[in-house]
Amino acid sequence: MTAPIRPTVVTARDGRTAVINIGGLDAEQSALARRSDFPLLAANPRLHYLDSAATTQKPAAVLEAIQRYYETSNANPHRGAYALSAAATEAYHDSRTRIARFLGVADADTVIFARGTTEALNLVTSSWGRTNVKAGDRIVVTRLEHHANFVPWQVLAHEAGAEFVIAELNADGTLDMNGLASLINAKTKVVAFGHVSNALGSINAVAEIVALARKVGALTVCDGAQGAPHINVSVDSLGVDAYAFSGHKMLGPMGIGGLVMRRELLEAMPPYQMGGDMISHVGDQHTTWNVLPHKFEAGTPNVEGPVGLAAACEYLTSLGMDRVIEHERLLAARAMEKLSAIPGVAVLGPAIDKRGGVVSFTLDNVHPHDLSQMLDADGVCVRAGHHCAQPLMRALDVHATTRASFYVYNDAADVDALVESVDAARKRFAGA
Ligand code: PMP
Repeated sequence: MTAPIRPTVVTARDGRTAVINIGGLDAEQSALARRSDFPLLAANPRLHYLDSAATTQKPAAVLEAIQRYYETSNANPHRGAYALSAAATEAYHDSRTRIARFLGVADADTVIFARGTTEALNLVTSSWGRTNVKAGDRIVVTRLEHHANFVPWQVLAHEAGAEFVIAELNADGTLDMNGLASLINAKTKVVAFGHVSNALGSINAVAEIVALARKVGALTVCDGAQGAPHINVSVDSLGVDAYAFSGHKMLGPMGIGGLVMRRELLEAMPPYQMGGDMISHVGDQHTTWNVLPHKFEAGTPNVEGPVGLAAACEYLTSLGMDRVIEHERLLAARAMEKLSAIPGVAVLGPAIDKRGGVVSFTLDNVHPHDLSQMLDADGVCVRAGHHCAQPLMRALDVHATTRASFYVYNDAADVDALVESVDAARKRFAGA
């Protein structure tokens, strides 16, 4: 394991962060999305929702699309010969086409719906992994991974008798690319990595990782749970073999997300679950599989999920995906600068140009759970804990952090409420 990662205080500024006006609200730090578009935020004007890395709030457009679907088109898709069932089928597949467009995937049938990133990654490890990973092979993951892109590979490695190795980090919490390169050898079957860390916000150099893995013919699996919502992603251009995402982290409903995977790989893989819809012909002894995407979508599908997620994708597109990460960085930079000025606060992770809108920090002598409860009393919602990244917490030499994560509906006032509340908590603890 590497030495503990030292907190990084932001000092050096790239061109973008230089525009920050810490003294007051400048135009770019008002919210990108109208707060009034989000019924929950509109109903709670004093709420500072800073936990979008966990899940996002939903715009009315998403809620309305789901309601409209149930009011006009609800039936079991693929089953009935009647017009209403055809309308449900149409809603389901039309949503897939729109989600594929948002993700930059030309072949929409290679977008396999799943409950979210966790299920999508388990699909890859169970189906592709069990078929292709053998004793003596090597699986490479990174120290930044969420448990969803760590534990399934660890278990697969143990089952298959393969080696499970972890690429370590630089002192600033970015991936050590030389270290990663040194771990990728002829035995490497898989390189699994996150697009953006949910715990530190570090953004990985996907193209470079793909290039390293390609040299040895290893499968590249990218956990896009924190990528697709924030970065203008074209999965086709990223060049990864598999990309997983969660709709609820990108303004869509819970219970829908998916896996994008290269067609030839999906076609060669065995199904993940068996049952209705995923079959072509069921003989007494043998069964043949349906075509993509049905082969991997057994049972009655979640239709309201894709319908809501497609509406979320269009809402994000209307804001401009190029602007999302810029907006988050402005807010994150403001938070990093102001939090770092509070005595006892250590901001973890890389400088602003290497991260998205996630700011993890610690406050001396105050447990993150206590701190987050105190912030809650001021209407500031943040996450406290290990962020489903215990291997990373060990490298950081902390048990937990407090994490603020920004999204399109946040503005500078949310950052300032966070900072004021943290400072007030520090004073209260210091005086106790
Ligand atoms: N990977 C990352 C980086 C995440 O942030 C999350 C959600 N916290 C997941 C995977 C798992 O996503 P889900 O719970 O939606 O399956």
